[in-house]
Amino acid sequence: MNGQTNNLGGNFVTRLSFWGVRGSTPTVDPATWRYGGNTPCLELTAPDGTQIILDCGTGLRVLGSRWAARNPETHILVTHFHWDHIQGIPFFAPLYSESNRFHFYSFRSKHLGHDSLQQVFETQMAMPYFPVDMSAMTAKKRFMEVSGGESFCIGENRITARHLNHPQGCLGFRIETPGGTIVYATDNEPGDAKLDAELQQLAADADILINDAQYTPEQLATTRRGWGHSSWREGVIVARAAGAKTLVLFHHDPDSTDRMVDGLLHQAREEFDSVFAASEGMVITLGSADGKLEAHMPETRTAMRREAQFRARVSGITEGGHAFEEETVVRDLAIQGAMISLAHCPRLQSELQVMMETEGANGIKTMKLRGYVVRIDADEKKGHSSVGVVFTE
Ligand SMILES: [Zn+2]
Ligand SMILES: [Zn+2]
Repeated sequence: MNGQTNNLGGNFVTRLSFWGVRGSTPTVDPATWRYGGNTPCLELTAPDGTQIILDCGTGLRVLGSRWAARNPETHILVTHFHWDHIQGIPFFAPLYSESNRFHFYSFRSKHLGHDSLQQVFETQMAMPYFPVDMSAMTAKKRFMEVSGGESFCIGENRITARHLNHPQGCLGFRIETPGGTIVYATDNEPGDAKLDAELQQLAADADILINDAQYTPEQLATTRRGWGHSSWREGVIVARAAGAKTLVLFHHDPDSTDRMVDGLLHQAREEFDSVFAASEGMVITLGSADGKLEAHMPETRTAMRREAQFRARVSGITEGGHAFEEETVVRDLAIQGAMISLAHCPRLQSELQVMMETEGANGIKTMKLRGYVVRIDADEKKGHSSVGVVFTE
């Protein structure tokens, strides 16, 4: 096997990047910025260089915009055909370049029949839903049907698919790489004994189990029963029974704010040792020489995981047109923006300057950011406004 003795060279490292983690529909609400609003898309790079993309939600567009053409061929596994898992396809720039080659894998829908995934492509780009049709996608495309229970190899990696319990069907995937095993089980509702047992098998001894955690256990038992999703608690049950090492909560509800997801993560961590809540930009590497699993977040998100608040000096223009400057704290900081509590009420869409002190690995640093006011929630009782800012630099 390639690189069996070459641990020092990092030959065994499998890298998993999260480009979209939100379920059902993308969100742009500032209260969801930190975990991110793009719908499901993951990218896995195996030790042998094989590139596998899981699902084609709106996160796929972002992946396409950072495309490095590292691979002559890319393999794309599509769990099912609901909007949130396919909507990135027409906006995935690498599909419009002749030099790229894609292999797509999904199941045959009983509603579509033969060539289901190809039909999905054609239909979502049909007039008048999209300005160009599929003939504009000049990349080479091959579509393959996978049935539940099937296993196949891509390079040195073994893929196994199993059906999950979801309206109109869904596949879960187990990807065994020389760097470790990842199981992707989103859009699944527990409660079907046969399918539950199959998921447990699929997740057996996985290094990472990415599991649907859209609802709270209470919602799952009442108002959201039968909607085809799961909860952090069910994820813990599967992870324990299967002997999975790390659980990743995924497919966050569009109505779940960052603080709500923080709460779900907190509860899950009380029940299981190693849990992450998937967030956009998160990268997990496994299979490093010391056998440790590492998760990296973009710096500002990592800071938020410590629930830090940053002291900041903010300056801008008030609604009445006067310049102001004040000291405050910044919370809910993400790459795209932040919520800032201000005594002054800035003008909507005016520019704000934010000077912030952040504590990183190398000591205290000052960050200077410029952004625009996109939302103001006035709290008259406290005499403060909660101001949503989108950063432009
Ligand atoms: Zn979904
Ligand atoms: Zn779905």
